[in-house]
Amino acid sequence: MQAKIAEIFKSIQGEGIYQGREQVFVRFYGCNLKCQFCDTPLTHYEELRPEELLNRINIFGVDYHSLSLTGGEPLLQSDFLKETLPSVKKEGIKIYLETNGILHKELAEIIDYLDIIAMDFKLPSSTAMPAFWDEHKKFLRIALKKEVFVKAVICNNTHKEDIEKSINLIRYFRKDIPFVLQPEFSQMQDSGLKDVIWHYKHLASSYLKDVRVLAQLHKLQGVR
Ligand code: SF4
Repeated sequence: MQAKIAEIFKSIQGEGIYQGREQVFVRFYGCNLKCQFCDTPLTHYEELRPEELLNRINIFGVDYHSLSLTGGEPLLQSDFLKETLPSVKKEGIKIYLETNGILHKELAEIIDYLDIIAMDFKLPSSTAMPAFWDEHKKFLRIALKKEVFVKAVICNNTHKEDIEKSINLIRYFRKDIPFVLQPEFSQMQDSGLKDVIWHYKHLASSYLKDVRVLAQLHKLQGVR
């Protein structure tokens, strides 16, 4: 079995509650969504077998926080992950999954090998796509077997209703699941977005224990 992999590199995690941690990133090619703010144009890939990917990961040694499976959407290649992750675990490497939080059946197949799950809520008013609340609920239920946090991209046209639905979905399970509001990068200097995001931060903090506003650190620092 082979996977389509766009790039493998070492850098700092720029998003979410592990911002600033050093990771090795494996970026899987392809996505099941088309978010309007997508900043990951995937134009090329190479096909690697599990042992080839392991060799490429081993080049970086073991002196980093975790291996980030990112994309695109890594769970589109869950059969490959099922075959590969047991060997990665044997090396003692912590596995961090970055996902759009929709493919819950695929998550269930590999959850045992994961350590940390960074899942998105795709807010329809931010993505200009349909809502995925049912999928996110099923996904989060499985993800809670491991460490998980939720991240949502906030644009200046993000609706309050989507924030309220996010809050309700998280507190349905546990109030202490971290909820990260991430300003859409191209709108960062927009004063309207700043007002909106802090308003939503205060709203969410009325119901949840750990709500954070975090910009994309790697873009601010100009690293990939
Ligand atoms: S889920 Fe992520 S990679 Fe896929 S289209 Fe949306 S932003 Fe891009």
